[in-house]
Amino acid sequence: MTRQATDDSRPRAGADATGRAAPDGHTADEAARFGSSPFYIAFARALRQRGMRPELLCEPADPCARRLLAEYGAMFVADRSVAVPPVCVFQNEDEVSRFQRQAGSRAADFDGVKVELQPAVLDALLAAREDARREGLDITPRGGAEAARRDFADTVRLWESRVRPALAHWLEAGRVSAEDAERIGSLASGEQVARILELESCGCFFSKDFSKSILQSVAAPGASQHLALLAFDVVEFTDARVRSILARHGWFQTVRSDLPHFTYLGVREEELPGLGLRLAYHGEHVFWVPDLGDEGD
Ligand SMILES: [Zn+2]
Repeated sequence: MTRQATDDSRPRAGADATGRAAPDGHTADEAARFGSSPFYIAFARALRQRGMRPELLCEPADPCARRLLAEYGAMFVADRSVAVPPVCVFQNEDEVSRFQRQAGSRAADFDGVKVELQPAVLDALLAAREDARREGLDITPRGGAEAARRDFADTVRLWESRVRPALAHWLEAGRVSAEDAERIGSLASGEQVARILELESCGCFFSKDFSKSILQSVAAPGASQHLALLAFDVVEFTDARVRSILARHGWFQTVRSDLPHFTYLGVREEELPGLGLRLAYHGEHVFWVPDLGDEGD
């Protein structure tokens, strides 16, 4: 089963060639705004094909917006059988519920836990679960109903659950002043995200154990793929056979180091390089993350 993941990733060279051919469709304006990395080209192309305008979705001149797109942006190149958000970051509950209504959703009962996703996304998950069960395995939600659909308030609450302890930690460590901690705590969410990323660039990390970026621990308010009804957190993520079954049904790990988190892209694994995604390794786990070319790490 692990072998399949390796086999599927092999046609990368061919897909790179596809990526190179793509600049034809990349307008000069988009190249000037977003740059010409494989991901930005695929992102702009995917949105244009949906009749959306990439420059309205994300302000590429804003380093914070670019960073959020780099961390969570894989969902925007998903198959057109599903809807993608009209913004990189939802600003409030109204925007989220409007999108979720338009995208449509369906729920299934996973042993007493409600799992609610876009209809095509749920179908793919249920099909994967059936396959898993046929092999004596299972695919179950991690953390209750929050494993699938979330609302804006959920993302704010989860974000704050990291921010508050980290501010206390860095205050205690003498790396943040009491005034600064207080001020950061009361900033509006967009400004707070930007300020925390600044602190992280100086080594004050805000993840649960303060060892890595908060963005690899919890999504910024309004930026979670769970708001898009395209993500599912899986209990059995350590089982390579389960990951391989999910991949066969279009589910991939796309948020670096968020191990239980899977994103529905609805395509075959060998298509991912052509969608501007590249492999990133984390131990035995394989993440498909936006390929930012020189801009990436
Ligand atoms: Zn998740």
